[in-house]
Amino acid sequence: MTPTTAVLCLSGHDPVGGAGLQADIETLSAHGVHALGLITALTVQDSRNVRQVIATDPALLDEQLALLLADVRPDAVKLGLLGDIAQLPVIVRHLARLNLPLVCDPVLRAGGGTDLVAVDYPDALRRQLLPLVTVLTPNASEARRLVPGAGGDLDVCADALLADGCMRVLITGGDERDIEVINRCYGRDTPTRICEWPRLPETFHGAGCTLASAIAARLALGDTPDEAIDAGQRWTQGALARAVAVGGGRRIPGRFIE
Ligand code: PLP
Repeated sequence: MTPTTAVLCLSGHDPVGGAGLQADIETLSAHGVHALGLITALTVQDSRNVRQVIATDPALLDEQLALLLADVRPDAVKLGLLGDIAQLPVIVRHLARLNLPLVCDPVLRAGGGTDLVAVDYPDALRRQLLPLVTVLTPNASEARRLVPGAGGDLDVCADALLADGCMRVLITGGDERDIEVINRCYGRDTPTRICEWPRLPETFHGAGCTLASAIAARLALGDTPDEAIDAGQRWTQGALARAVAVGGGRRIPGRFIE
């Protein structure tokens, strides 16, 4: 029996179905990859904004990870919203043992404006998790918040995040004011690559989760980090072009329609 390619996802639950674990499952399924899903937090939200985040008990996550990973060997990991800073050491302990390609979407604030993490979370994430990360996918405002001493300069932010130990930093520009969306891909020993995408007229909910999952899918299937980053962006741009309205707020990526 050929084992199924699988990605371990640690993500929040979004009842709208645009972001979080549902975005992961849909994106991975579209790539023919199985999602192993752990819920880090429940949320109260609609298609406009997040109202509340309710963290999973770190001891429960620990038990879930221990049992699952004793049985299944994933091919890659995707980490999204964490419910609480206390989940970090538990997750880091398990992931350090796995030694797998890891995509981290450092979710700090919802597109609707609500802060989703505590003030000391960015620093803890940098110190504890970044040495394990293959591809970090902050948007521009998350990159600036992760590196407050950078004076807002994205190149300086990326240098600091690479120095923390991750292999690639893809800073997305959907939240910037440029006419096109400019995504910047940084590596320690590779030239910075600029990827430009047409800016679509709508606003989206779950775009970041979709991109990180698409990159994780491609890594699990054997792409190099740069191949996965390029393919993940292309696939996500297609999903955004087919976005659907499920409520009165932002659109969610169309991850099913060909
Ligand atoms: N809810 C969950 C569970 C998420 O993981 C995220 C972002 O990753 C959001 C909400 C916010 O998504 P967005 O900023 O795209 O609206």
